[in-house]
Amino acid sequence: MSTCVIRRLYNSEFKGRLHNEMDEKVELRIYKKYAHLLLQPNEGNDLGLYVAVDIPTNDPRFDKARLLTEEIRKKYNDFFFLYAEIKRKYSKKELEAATLLHLKIKTVFEPTGEEYGTLYDETVACEICGANRKQVSPLTLKKGTIPKKDIARTIGGEVVVSEKFANVVKQRNLNGLQLNPINVDKYYQLTANTEIELSPNTIVGINPFDLSTSSEGEIYKCPKGDTIGLNLLSEPYVLDSQSIGENDFLVSKQNIGVKRGLLRPEPIYFCSQSFREVIEEEKLSGFEFEITNIEYRLPY
Ligand SMILES: [Zn+2]
Repeated sequence: MSTCVIRRLYNSEFKGRLHNEMDEKVELRIYKKYAHLLLQPNEGNDLGLYVAVDIPTNDPRFDKARLLTEEIRKKYNDFFFLYAEIKRKYSKKELEAATLLHLKIKTVFEPTGEEYGTLYDETVACEICGANRKQVSPLTLKKGTIPKKDIARTIGGEVVVSEKFANVVKQRNLNGLQLNPINVDKYYQLTANTEIELSPNTIVGINPFDLSTSSEGEIYKCPKGDTIGLNLLSEPYVLDSQSIGENDFLVSKQNIGVKRGLLRPEPIYFCSQSFREVIEEEKLSGFEFEITNIEYRLPY
C-alpha cells in the first residue's frame, strides 16, 4: 500500500467519514542538500542542516516527497528528510459534530512505573510483539516526576490523571473510565473498561513516506493482529459498536508502537463528544483531539 492512500481516503466518499474541512499537512524537515529537489529557492525555514517546511497532504509535492525518499535511499543509501509528522487542524464546527474523538495524551514522562516497582506479568504478553502484558500491582511512580497536567503518560504507556480530573469524572457521571489510586497523592491511574476495534482503513507506518511493517529486526505489524504498526498516520477508523454510544472513554483493541527497552505497543484512546465538552469546560490540561471515523455497517 502506498502513502498516497492517506490522501485518497480523505478525498474519497469514504463511508463513515464525517467531515471534509480538515486542514492536514506534513511537517517536514528536509536535509538541506536535497531541499532543492522539492522546494523553490528560499522556500521553507533554513535551519542550517535542514529546511523546515509544511506541505499539505493534498499538494502534489506530498507524493513527490515520497518518491524522493525512496529514490535517495536506493541511489545514495541516504535519508531525504530528518523528520516528518502529520498535523491536522479542525474547525470548531467539525470537532463539535464528531461522535467519537481520538483522545491524544501529549505529555510523556519518565521514569516508568516498571522502573519504580510496578509489577507486570510478562508471561501473558504476546511473544512476538510484546503487547498486552498484565499489570498485577498498583501503579508505582517516582515521586515528583509527574508533569503538572491533568493527564500524562509514561514512555511505557501508563496513564495518570490529576485529582481534579478524577473529581470531574465523578461529578459529571462519565462512563467507561476506571481510576485507581497510585503511590503519589492526588494522582490516579486511568484505564478504560471497553475496547473497540480499529478498522483496516486506519493507516499506520514508520512515517508518512514509509509504511514498512518491519525494519532492522523489529516487527511492527504482529501476525497475531494485536499490534498493527509503529506509528498512527491517519485519523483512526473504528468499527461501529454499541459500546461507542454507551461509554465516554474507550480504548482500541489493537496496539500501535514497538517493544523496545521500556517502550511497549500501546492502545489508542477515544472519548465521547460530551467528555470532550467537559474537558474544555473544566479547562483540563494535557489533551488534544482528533476526529475518529466510525465505519457503519450497511444494512442488508
Ligand atoms: Zn503480537
